[in-house]
Amino acid sequence: MDIFDITIIGAGPAGMFAAFYAGMRNAKTKLIDSLPQLGGQLATLYPEKYIYDIPGFPKIKAGDLVQNLEKQLTTFNHQYCLEETVLHIEEQEDYLEITTDKTTHYSKAVILALGNGSFQPRKLALPDAERFEGYGLDYFVTDLMKYAGRKVAIAGGGDSAIDWALMLEPIASEVYLIHRRPEFRAHEHSVSKLKDSSVNVLTPYVIEAIEGEHKVTGLSLQQVKGEDTVSLNVDALIVNYGFSSTLNI
Ligand SMILES: Cc1cc2nc3c(=O)[nH]c(=O)nc-3n(C[C@H](O)[C@H](O)[C@H](O)COP(=O)(O)OP(=O)(O)OC[C@H]3O[C@@H](n4cnc5c(N)ncnc54)[C@H](O)[C@@H]3O)c2cc1C
Repeated sequence: MDIFDITIIGAGPAGMFAAFYAGMRNAKTKLIDSLPQLGGQLATLYPEKYIYDIPGFPKIKAGDLVQNLEKQLTTFNHQYCLEETVLHIEEQEDYLEITTDKTTHYSKAVILALGNGSFQPRKLALPDAERFEGYGLDYFVTDLMKYAGRKVAIAGGGDSAIDWALMLEPIASEVYLIHRRPEFRAHEHSVSKLKDSSVNVLTPYVIEAIEGEHKVTGLSLQQVKGEDTVSLNVDALIVNYGFSSTLNI
């Protein structure tokens, strides 16, 4: 039986940095994550998005931050178990027994760095939205250049929606930001930048229908508590309604 000193469950930024410190303590360390790569939400959901609230970095792309963390970890010879989900942990006399969907691990200590657990985007509540997924409708942005020269609508009122709108402004031919409330809940500074940008802000509107036979070609919007309707000619829709997650250990 191979018993590790520390097993970290969750290889997001918290788990990765915990692994770095475990290495500094010469601990025999293992990282387990259900995703196929390190980096948690940053690598999976928004690798191309800038982050502005990391100490020492005025701005850094999420994917670059993960790469830096990976580089930092190369100092140590840790073991990585990816695409493996931890199902439960049981205390034995001298160690902990960690059962995953693949095998059993043994460790003197366990660090839970699960973030929000396994996460799913909140989807657009339209009956036929699913058929447009991958055909103009996206819930994750993994490659900004995919939107180069296109007319892009972004739905949402939080930081992600505004960050994407501002990042796409110089890349897309036209950017629309649709939000159901008149005010945004993003950081005030981002909202000020939005006001100074060329992004077309449509509030308070909701998406009533996606138009298009095989891919998104337009959107029908309905004013909230109003009569106005808008028909938008766009070829991409990014929905940023947040995420729901489950902690399942
Ligand atoms: C679109 C978006 C934009 C964001 N922008 C910012 C920003 O600009 N600035 C900022 O500070 N924060 C931002 N955040 C929040 C930030 O991503 C999180 O705070 C951060 O990811 C938390 O890191 P973590 O390591 O704790 O967890 P996570 O990144 O969630 O990593 C947890 C890991 O644990 C794994 N895991 C969970 N359960 C199990 C299990 N049972 N078995 C195996 N593995 C498991 C998951 O697969 C995941 O990889 C944003 C979040 C989103 C979704």
